[in-house]
Formats: sequence, structure tokens, C-alpha cells
Amino acid sequence: MKSEILKLESYLIYLRRLFHEFPELSGNEYNTQLRIIDELENLNIKYKRAGKTSVVAEIDTQREGKTLAIRADMDALPINEDNDYDFKSKNKGLMHACGHDAHMAILLGTIKILNQYKSQMNGKIKFLFQDSEEVGAGAKKLIEEGYLEDVDACIALHQDPLVNTGEIHIAKGKATAATDSVTISFFGECGHTSTPYLAKDTIIPACSFVNGLQNIILEKIDNQSQYVVVCSKFQSGIRGNIISPKTDVELSIRYFDEETRKKLVSEIKKYANSIAEFYEIKVEVEDTFGCSCTVNDDDIREKLKEASIKILGSENVIDSKPKMFSEDLSFIFEKVKGCVIILGSGKLKSERIKLNENKPIDDEYTHCLHSEKMKLNEECMKYGVAIFTEFALEFLKK
Ligand SMILES: [Zn+2]
Ligand SMILES: [Zn+2]
Repeated sequence: MKSEILKLESYLIYLRRLFHEFPELSGNEYNTQLRIIDELENLNIKYKRAGKTSVVAEIDTQREGKTLAIRADMDALPINEDNDYDFKSKNKGLMHACGHDAHMAILLGTIKILNQYKSQMNGKIKFLFQDSEEVGAGAKKLIEEGYLEDVDACIALHQDPLVNTGEIHIAKGKATAATDSVTISFFGECGHTSTPYLAKDTIIPACSFVNGLQNIILEKIDNQSQYVVVCSKFQSGIRGNIISPKTDVELSIRYFDEETRKKLVSEIKKYANSIAEFYEIKVEVEDTFGCSCTVNDDDIREKLKEASIKILGSENVIDSKPKMFSEDLSFIFEKVKGCVIILGSGKLKSERIKLNENKPIDDEYTHCLHSEKMKLNEECMKYGVAIFTEFALEFLKK
């Protein structure tokens, strides 16, 4: 199997670059869907269009057995890419900055290999190419449409350039954070900028709110619990000579338990109200739940860990803490037993050690997910395929 996967490398790179060049937003992955379908037809694999622009492919051995699902997400982000390779995004303002391009290539590579090993398995495998992960909508739709009904287990991966290529992180229990988006809207009154004291500005109150936010959180939230509160959007203003009557501030909050969530939201509300009261304006706070924690099932995790150790060696399979990013995979794992691994896509460990000794680490793979400079080491993809394949062959063994 190893030699087959090594041979697959150029195929994986070709696919990943193709996806990378033409990124599409959540729910709009039409061309991405067509490319996947094209590839599945080349490989002679049965598939169905699902969700908004998802594709569910299937390898059915026609023998009684378990059903395994392997999931990859498809969407890109509204980010202008700042990399200089020749497969840089051609869709202006859009970028595969989360590495979902690599996830799709890995899944197609896995299909290609597993299809050759069909005779060694029982049951079936569903390959979920899922749209709209970044907006937390795609997984729910696949569940609603019944694609998870007969599934016994689901596995997935997320690449991370901050983890060395050739290593994976695998968390016990909670693997990724839960998230909400909280919008704070300040309402004031327009006025001429020559007489600000006669109007009710909303920019200064909103700035005070953002500036003081981290202090309030520090003072009010138990620092034993893990969480992140970040202001990611600030929108205001009509024109240079008009006092701004409305300012919207959007926060992204991440947490691991309901208690922390409730406390965060209630402190944010209290703080926003106190600012509004002081400046004599109105405020509305809207909390929108995104998704819950992705929780790895112990049994599936053990099996996926074993498969990973076979491929990478035990020193490269790391029991890790949960990641602060979120995944709508959480909805799938609420329905079926599952496990997600974090696939290292940064420097090779050997290179990193060498660089530490001789010169500073260059920054090629040190830009995080959702950065306009995010780069991933394409070498990681073959490890993804090998781990998925190893797991599937063992899980569906005859
Ligand atoms: Zn993302
Ligand atoms: Zn992602």
C-alpha cells in the first residue's frame, strides 16, 4: 500500500492546486462540486449530489458489514490571497486559507486507493464532500438529508501548518471548541460633525467597548476555563461630516462548556449596557450559536490512533489538547461515533530541528489558518490518505 500512496503524490498535488486556484465561498462551491464529480466519474465511483453543493460518494462492497463515513469540507474564505506561487487563487478576494483544498484532494486520493482494495473489505464507505463548513451549515444539511442514518463511524482530518508535517495531533474527548458569534449594535443619533455634543455618536462608545472588553473578561471569567473572545468586525459611519448613528461590533467567542458560554454572553451584555447607559444611547446584543465542541469517541479514537501509529510511528502521533478553532463536524459526531485528527502540514520535524540549530526558522509554514499567507506543505497529503486507508481497511476488515 505504501508504494501505491507514494505514487499517488503527484495526483494529490495536482488536485489540491486545482482546487486552490479556484476557491469558492460556502454554499457556492458549484465548480468545486463539478470537479469532484468529474474525478469520481473518472474513477468510476457512484455518487449523489447532496446538501447545497455537497457530494456523497460511495464504495459498496455488496457484502454485509459496517458503514464508515469519511468527511472532507469544500469551502474557501473571503480573503485575498497573498502568496506568490503560480497556483495562487484566480478568484479575486477568495482563498482556500483553511486548507479545505487539501482535505478534498486527500479524500479523492483515499477513494482511489480504497477502490483497489474493495475485495478486502466488507460493508461500505461513504465519502462526504461537504459544503459550507465555514458557516456551520453543511454538516447539518447532510444529517437532515439522512446521509448519516446508516453510518457506524465517521472520521475526518483538519490540516494545520503549525504542526510539523509527518505528525498528527489527536485529542481525547473534546477536540475543537464550541463557538458563538455575538453582535453588539449601538444606536445613537446623526448630527453635524461641527457640533458633536448635540448628536449621539456611536463610534466612541463602541471603541470604549472594544478597548475595555478584554479587561472585563479578565476580571469576570474564571481563568481556569479555556475561552477566546475576539472582536472580528467593526462597522460604522455614513460620511466624513455626519456623526455616525449606528455601530455594529461583532465578536467571535470560543469555549468548551455551557457555563463559560453563559457567563461570557451575560458579561458582554452587561458591559455593553453599561457603556450605552453612560453615553445615553441604545444597545442591542444578539448571541448566535455556531456549533458545539467536536467530541472524539474513545473507541474510534483508539482505532484511528493505532492506524496513525502504523503510518507515522508512535513518536509522531501526539495526544493533544483540544484546538480553539471550531468544526461543524461536531453535529455529525453528535449523531455517530467519530474522531478527527489534526494533520501536521508545516515544516518537516527534521527540517525544523536543523533550522533551529543553524538559522532562524523561516516563516514559510508559520502562518495560521485563515491567514492570507497561509501555506501548507503538500507532503502532508499522502499521510492523510495513508491514515484514512489504514483505518478503513481495518475497520471494514473481512
Ligand atoms: Zn476555517
Ligand atoms: Zn477548516
